[in-house]
This record gives sequence, C-alpha cells and structure tokens, in this order.
Amino acid sequence: MRRDRIAIIGGGPAGLAAAETLSAAGHGVTVYEAMPTLGRKFLLAGKSGLNITHSEDYPSFVSRFGDAAGRLRSALDAFTPEDVKAWAEGLGIETFVGSSGRVFPTVMKASPLLRAWRGRLEDQGVSILTRHRWIGFAGDGLVFRTPEGETVVDCDAALLALGGASWPRLGSDAAWTGWLREKGVTVRDFRPANCGFDVAWSPAFVERFAGSPIKSVVASSDAGSVPGEFVVTGAGIEGSLVYAHAAALRDRLEREGTAVLTLDLAPGRTSERLARDLGRQDIKASFSTRLRKGAGIGGVKAALLRQLVPEDDRKDAARLARRIKTLALPLVAPRPIAEVISSAGGVAWEGVDDAYMLKALPGIFVAGEMLDWEAPTGGYLLTACLATGRAAARGIEAWLRR
Ligand SMILES: Cc1cc2nc3c(=O)[nH]c(=O)nc-3n(C[C@H](O)[C@H](O)[C@H](O)COP(=O)(O)OP(=O)(O)OC[C@H]3O[C@@H](n4cnc5c(N)ncnc54)[C@H](O)[C@@H]3O)c2cc1C
Repeated sequence: MRRDRIAIIGGGPAGLAAAETLSAAGHGVTVYEAMPTLGRKFLLAGKSGLNITHSEDYPSFVSRFGDAAGRLRSALDAFTPEDVKAWAEGLGIETFVGSSGRVFPTVMKASPLLRAWRGRLEDQGVSILTRHRWIGFAGDGLVFRTPEGETVVDCDAALLALGGASWPRLGSDAAWTGWLREKGVTVRDFRPANCGFDVAWSPAFVERFAGSPIKSVVASSDAGSVPGEFVVTGAGIEGSLVYAHAAALRDRLEREGTAVLTLDLAPGRTSERLARDLGRQDIKASFSTRLRKGAGIGGVKAALLRQLVPEDDRKDAARLARRIKTLALPLVAPRPIAEVISSAGGVAWEGVDDAYMLKALPGIFVAGEMLDWEAPTGGYLLTACLATGRAAARGIEAWLRR
C-alpha cells in the first residue's frame, strides 16, 4: 500500500486542472489514468478545432448551463472564459475568436496544448500513472488495476474526474456509477447530449442525400428558433444546429415518445410572399419545377419536402408555403450515447457540497462532465470542466487544512 497525499483519478481536462492547481500550491499529487495516455477525449475534441471557451457576454455564457448554472456559478466566476484564454496563452497557445464568438487555439488542435500542460504538471512535481484503472473501494482505500496487478491506494483526499459516458472507448466508460451508488451517492442515468437524431428517411433519400448539408434554415423546438445549417446522414441528422436543439428534443422524446424539429426552409421570405409566388406557377408543372420557380428551392431541400409534404398540400399554394415555413421533421431517437459529443446525467448535485465534495464520502471530491450538468457546444463544456476541476482543488485544499 502506497500513501499519496492527493489522488486525482482521471487525466482529462477536469482532473488535470485540479492537479495543476494543487501542485502549484505545493501539494503532492498523483494522477491516475486508466488509458495508456492522458486526455484522449480532449485530443478528439481538438480534431474539430478545439473550441475552448466562448466570448459572449458573461451572463449569457453562464445561462447556457441551464438548471445547473446556479451550482456552477462560483466555479465559473473563479475561472471565467477570459481566464481560460489567459491560461491557454500562458501555456504558449495563442487563441482567436471565431465569427460565431467561439474561442479556438490558433493551431486549431489540442495536442500542443496538452503537451505544454503535461510539461507544466511534471515541472510542478505531479506524478502521472497511466494504465491505472480505478475499480472501486476497499475500506478507506481506492483500488486500481495496473499492468502489475491490483493495488490499493490510501490518500488524504481524492478527486474523481472520470468524465461522462460518451465515446467510452476513449476511457470515460461510466463504469463507476455502481460503485458510487453502493456508497449512497445519487447518480442520474447518463443520456446523450449534443447529439444527432435518427430520422426514418426513405432508402432512396439516403442513397442520394446522405452527407448533404441543408443550409440557410431556421430550426425551432422548445429550445427556441436558431438559424444555421445541418447535415443529412444515413441515420438521420447531425450538426451544430441540431445540437443546439438536442437537449429539448431528447427531453420531449423521453416525455412524449415523439418530437419534431420544425424547419423554415426559406427564412428570407414570408409565408404570404411564398404563397403568392407559388400560386403563380402552372399547377400542371411538376412539384420540383413549382418549388424551384416559385420558391427558389431545389436539391436536398426539395427532396425533404417530397419526403414530408402530403400530396394534398403540394397542390395548394398557401398550404405548401406554410409547410415550407414550418416543416415538421419527425425524429425517432437520439443517436447512441457512445457516439455523441457529451452526456447529460451523472453525480446529482444534492449529494455534492459547495466545495465539490461528496457528502456521502468525506474526502472524495468530484469534477467535470461526471457531474449532472449539460451545456451546448461552443466551448462551454471544456470551460466548466476546467472550472470545476479548479474549484474541487480548492475544496481539497480547504479539506486538508480543516
Ligand atoms: C468529438 C468531441 C468533440 C468535442 N469538442 C469539444 C469542444 O470543441 N469544446 C468543448 O468545450 N468540449 C468539447 N467536447 C467535450 C469535452 O471534450 C468533454 O466535455 C471533456 O473532455 C470532459 O472532461 P472531463 O475531464 O470531465 O472528462 P474526460 O475528458 O472524459 O476525462 C476523463 C478521464 O478519466 C479517465 N477515466 C475514466 N474512468 C476511469 C477509471 N475508472 N480509472 C482511471 N481513469 C478513468 C478517462 O480515461 C479519461 O481520460 C467534445 C467531445 C467530443 C467527444
């Protein structure tokens, strides 16, 4: 049995942020990571540009965390989007604000940042043990499976930063939920967030249009109306516009068994103008020709209308115009959690104190995506993981001083 002062379990953004804060304050820290290398999901996030935070005004930024905003607020206040930028730049990674307000490293990938971060941790004396999978508790000790066999670690405080449940093959497999529940910690079931959805496309539609973007639309759901674009896939729909509605659509599917994403395929024209222009078309002309000439709609948008508009509505200009402006796209189910960007669910807030310690397990802290919060894409996820990792580190320091 080895005695470490502080064990950080999980070498993703939340765990590393905690390790950085604690080691900077002079604590002995060991990071235990199940995978052969650190930060695999962080590196994957880098493949799509690594959106580290968002530059919108701070109250709007905080509001993106929905119901959890209140609980996350003090962690975010202590590590704001400006702090995220300054932190990255302190590691030698310049950032820029994209046209959407999202903040990216200029290099548009994660590996240089992760390399510099790991270097800083090692300089601060953090010991990093990869291929160390935490597999539960043994009395007061933490049990790890390592290449040399099982080992029990006794420590003064531990942080669990084990991630959510998406992309389990990168390490965050949520295997821990049962071990915490056995100890009396409430863990809400994980659900897909920032996900695509299955749609019952016809085989012909998929064959022709899978991979096609549907551009310049406004999509509406319980989450409001958002302009943008999305992509048709073999299974359904994906893309940032879909992710902006994903939580609302997922919740409605769970509640009612059905959900639709309502599309305005011609945001530049009013329903009246469309009805007038479509009404001028020769009713004997094909549906495609009337759409093209009367509404300027062709390609995948026209095919979508052919899939979804009943025969009767195609012939009536006013009804067709209404369909074009409010086309209901029925969704079947969210995509499986294993392939989505992030997860909702996790350790329930009522079991966590303000210092990020589990009330049922004094001395054991939690941070990052394994906590029960969700947020849209846009850099909110990483910012909150970094912020909660640092907040839990401060909680651990206070616990050790008690
Ligand atoms: C494709 C994709 C793109 C993304 N893009 C962005 C983006 O641009 N911006 C953004 O803000 N967010 C993005 N995210 C989300 C972001 O990467 C995550 O929210 C973030 O990595 C979560 O950090 P975390 O530290 O809580 O967990 P993780 O990064 O999942 O890290 C948890 C670590 O714990 C380890 N672990 C798990 N169980 C054990 C165990 N039992 N023992 C030991 N170690 C264990 C895992 O191996 C893992 O390394 C993206 C995610 C994906 C999948």
